Amino acid sequence: MNKTYRALPYQHFANKGKLKIIDNLFYFYRQDAQRIFNYIWHKFLRIRTILNQKENLKECKVILSERYKYNIYTYVVYPTYLSFLENAKDYIVGLITKSTLNDNDKLILYILNRRGLWLNPPNELEVSKDNQVITLSVNQEHKKLIKKLFHRYLATHRLPEFKNTPLIGDGKIMEFQKSKKSKHFEYWIRLSTNIKNKPIYIPIKETEYYKLKDGKDTSIFQFVKDDLGNIQLKRIKEINAKENNGDNVLSLDFGLANLFATDKGDLLGRRFYDKVKEYADKIDKLQRNLQRQGIKPKESKRYIKLSFKLKEFVKNEIRRIINKLIRRYNPSIIVVENLKNFIQNVINQFPKTVKRTLIRIGRKEIKNKLNDISQEYGIQVIEINPAYSSQACSNCGYIDRENRKSQSEFECRLCGKRVHADVNASRNILKRFEERVHLHSMKQALSWQVRKFLENLTTKRYKCLWSKARSLLVSNVYFANHSSLTQGIDGYKRNKCLY
Ligand SMILES: [Zn+2]
Repeated sequence: MNKTYRALPYQHFANKGKLKIIDNLFYFYRQDAQRIFNYIWHKFLRIRTILNQKENLKECKVILSERYKYNIYTYVVYPTYLSFLENAKDYIVGLITKSTLNDNDKLILYILNRRGLWLNPPNELEVSKDNQVITLSVNQEHKKLIKKLFHRYLATHRLPEFKNTPLIGDGKIMEFQKSKKSKHFEYWIRLSTNIKNKPIYIPIKETEYYKLKDGKDTSIFQFVKDDLGNIQLKRIKEINAKENNGDNVLSLDFGLANLFATDKGDLLGRRFYDKVKEYADKIDKLQRNLQRQGIKPKESKRYIKLSFKLKEFVKNEIRRIINKLIRRYNPSIIVVENLKNFIQNVINQFPKTVKRTLIRIGRKEIKNKLNDISQEYGIQVIEINPAYSSQACSNCGYIDRENRKSQSEFECRLCGKRVHADVNASRNILKRFEERVHLHSMKQALSWQVRKFLENLTTKRYKCLWSKARSLLVSNVYFANHSSLTQGIDGYKRNKCLY
C-alpha cells in the first residue's frame, strides 16, 4: 500500500501578541531557507553530484538555531531541491526526444539524465538488460551534450525561492504537548522562536476534518500564511492510499456552460462561471477605480480580499465536484482533456485581470486535485489531446464545424445524433483513450478523427448513410486533403454493392 503525507487543517488559538511573534518567525525562517538552499546549491555545483538528505550543514550560516536549520533543510529545502532536479529530468527528456540524435546516443543521454549525471558524466555506464549487466561507453560528445542540456534547463528555469514557504517543523522546534493544567485546551504547541530560550506556547485543537481523515498522526506541523496574512495551522497525517477495486474509466470535459461534463452524461458546476463572472466584474470595476485614484491593486485591502475570495471559490468548487464524481462512479482511471487547452478556451472570455488569476489557480487547482485523488485513491489520471473533440460526432465519428450548433448543443449533420456538446466531447476523449492513440498535434488529431470516421463508414451499421455522407463530404474542408480516402470509400462501396 502506498503511503502519502497530507497537511490537514488544525485549529490554533494564538493571541495577537503570539501571532506577531510567529509572523516575525516567518520572516527569519524564509530567509534561512533561502540561505540553506544557496549553500547546498553551490555545493552541488562544486561537487557535481546530487546531494543526499544527510548533508552536513556545519558551514552554513543561518539566523535561527541549529535545530531550525536542520528542520528547514529536511522539510523545506531538500524536498524543493530534489523536485527542482526532478523537473530538470523531465525537461531534458523532452529535449533529447525532440533532438535528431541517433537512437544509441539518445539512449546514453537518457540514462545519464535519469541518473542525474549531468555535470560529472562517467566514461562508462552499467545497465542491466535481460538479467545481464552490459556496459555502454560514454564519449566526449555525450558528456558535452548532457552538460549543455542541463545548462539549458538552468538558463530557462528560475532557481527556487522561499518567499512563500510555510513554516514546517517537527517536535524539535514545534513540540506537541498534552496540557497538564489548562481546562480549556487539551493540546499545546511549544514553538521555539528566534530568541533563545523564549519559546511560545500556543493552544491548539484537532478539527473534525483532521479527525475524520483515516491515517496515522505525525509530529510534523506547519504554519501557513494565506493571501490576507492570516496564519493557519496544519498537521501532517500519514494517509493510507485507499484500495480501488472498480475498473471504471471516467472521462471529463471542461466546458463553458458547465465546469465539468462526463461521458456518462453528467453536467456539473452549472453556476460556476456565472459566479466567477460576478467576482470578475467586481474585481475589474474595482481595479479601474483604483487606477483612477492612482492606487496599486496590491495596496488595496479590498482588492486582495476579493481576489482571495475568488481563488477560494474556484478551489472549493473544483474540489467539491471532483469528490462528488468519485463517490458516484468510483473510477480507477480518469481521462481529461489537456488542461492547457481547457484554460485557453475557457478563460479567454474574462477580463484580463481575472484571466490571469484564473489561469494560475484554475489549472493549478484542477491539477492539484487530480494529483491528490490519484495518490489517495490510486486513480490514474490521463491527459488526452482534445483537438476537434467538440466537432466530431461521438456516435458515427463524422467531423464537421457545423455539428456544434451552439455552446451547449451538438447535432450531427450526418447521423442526426443530438447530445449536450460537452458530453459529446468527453465521449470522444474517452474513445481516444480506449484506442490508446497519442495525438501530438492538431493536424494529427484531425487526420485521426477523419480516418476513424471513414473506417466507421465502411461498417454495415452505417451503410444507410453512405449517399448522405458523400454529399456532405464534398463541401467539408476537413476532407479536402483526403479525397483519395473518400474515393476509397466509393470504391469500397462499389465492391460491397456487388454482392
Ligand atoms: Zn454522427
